Order: sequence, then structure tokens, then C-alpha cells
Amino acid sequence: MVVGGDELRAGVRRLGAELSQAYPEGVLLVAILRGSIWFLADLVRAMSCPVEVDFMAISSYAEGTGRVRIVKDLDLDINQRHVVLVEDVVDTGLTLTYVLGELRRREPASLEVCALLDKTTRRIVPTPVRFVGFEVADDFVLGYGLDFAGRYRNLDFVVAGDLSALREDPDAHVADLYGR
Ligand code: 5GP
Repeated sequence: MVVGGDELRAGVRRLGAELSQAYPEGVLLVAILRGSIWFLADLVRAMSCPVEVDFMAISSYAEGTGRVRIVKDLDLDINQRHVVLVEDVVDTGLTLTYVLGELRRREPASLEVCALLDKTTRRIVPTPVRFVGFEVADDFVLGYGLDFAGRYRNLDFVVAGDLSALREDPDAHVADLYGR
């Protein structure tokens, strides 16, 4: 599975146009550090309405439980603001469900999700994603912000990685992916 650079750029342009149409008066995009910032940086430049951005960082208590702790909170008050949470990939939906719950408590005027990649078949919790770049299969993906142990984020495309090889050696795909 590969989403090439041109295809990615076309998908981000389409999402930018969709967001601009949905929020002509402006919108606050909230991204979760760090994987989403590559996507966010291109997305805001594809938008033709006023945009503000803010960031959160979270860390998991235990893998697969969805329980997360906010380690860096937003700087802005989102009360009565139109907010879109920008995610690199929605997988089980556990992380997003927790973060959306946190944000909802602050009573934004509206709250939606924009995800570059959506692995709908992996969902454990039903998670409404209003703006979707690409639906992808149940593969572990790398590139365009998506990492394994901090590697591969700066690839200009999204590609499926071999998770068992990466667990043995996080640099397993360095030669093939950077040699293209
Ligand atoms: P969820 O809570 O929906 O299962 O997982 C969401 C988070 O897990 C994403 O924001 C991302 O950080 C990470 N993640 C899920 N699937 C992948 C994947 O295929 N590749 C990478 N690099 N990270 C993933």
C-alpha cells in the first residue's frame, strides 16, 4: 500500500477546499503532536478561509487501552469556537474518543474530525470522522508524519511497513524507503 506524493497533495487540496467551504467564517484546527503536523502544515496552506492552529501532546498510559494523559494542553480557549481536530490516522478510535471527550467538556460551538488516513476496519469505538483524506487497509503505515520509533516521518509519501521487521530493527526500512 502506497499513497504517492502527488496523490497525497491532491487529497490534502481536496480536504482544504472542503474545510474552507464548511467554515467560511474561520475555524480553529487542533493537532495532536507530533505525527499530524506535516499534514497540518500542508492542509492550512490549502485552505482559503481564516484559520488558527493550536496543539496538544498526549502520552498513553498503556498501549491499546486508549487511556491517555494530556502532557501539553491547548494554549487557546476553545469555548464557543468552531474546532476541527486534525489527525494523521484514525485506527481503533480509542485515542480520538478520549481527546474528543476532553475537548467537548470545554463546550466548543462545534467539534469535528479531519483525518488524513482512516482505517475504518480497525475501529473499536465508533468515531465520526467528517473529513477523510484516504481510507486505508489494515496496514501499519509510515511517512508524511507517521513514524516508527521516531523514524520515517519526513518521507513525502505514505507506505505500508513490515511491523515485525521494524520491531526487530527500527531502521529495517531505511535502505529501501530512503533509497527510492
Ligand atoms: P488509535 O487510538 O485510533 O488506535 O490510534 C491513533 C494513533 O496511533 C495515531 O494518531 C498514530 O499516532 C498511531 N497509529 C495508528 N495506526 C498507525 C500506523 O499505521 N502507523 C503509525 N506510524 N502510527 C499509527
